[in-house]
Amino acid sequence: MDKNICDQCGKEFFEEDAEDEFLLEYPLHNYSNLVRCLCGDCAIQAILVEDTGVYMETCEGCNKSFDPIEDDSTYRLHSKLDIGLDDFSRILCADCALEVELDEYPLESDFDEIEEDEEEDEDDEYTF
Ligand SMILES: [Zn+2]
Ligand SMILES: [Zn+2]
Repeated sequence: MDKNICDQCGKEFFEEDAEDEFLLEYPLHNYSNLVRCLCGDCAIQAILVEDTGVYMETCEGCNKSFDPIEDDSTYRLHSKLDIGLDDFSRILCADCALEVELDEYPLESDFDEIEEDEEEDEDDEYTF
């Protein structure tokens, strides 16, 4: 088994150990999706601080490899809904999520219609 050198801290590590540590912390992530060669600690830290360019997901819509952190902020910037990429039941890049949101979350045109309830509290009755 070959030792790897961590991109971040320069520590020597075995990939299997790093993977175990990483999956213990993030069971839903995939260690091999990490772009950089990172030891367990640094990999966990990178996800924790939401570093961009470290972890790539594959879009289930277009098979594109994308950075979920970057695409999430792109998505939130353009989306009309107050949701993020992780609110979708599939792994989607920003482009696909923006296309899909209209199907999965149909926009109600009168969603923001303000109901005008004029509450007139006229206190005419003063008792002295
Ligand atoms: Zn490291
Ligand atoms: Zn996509």
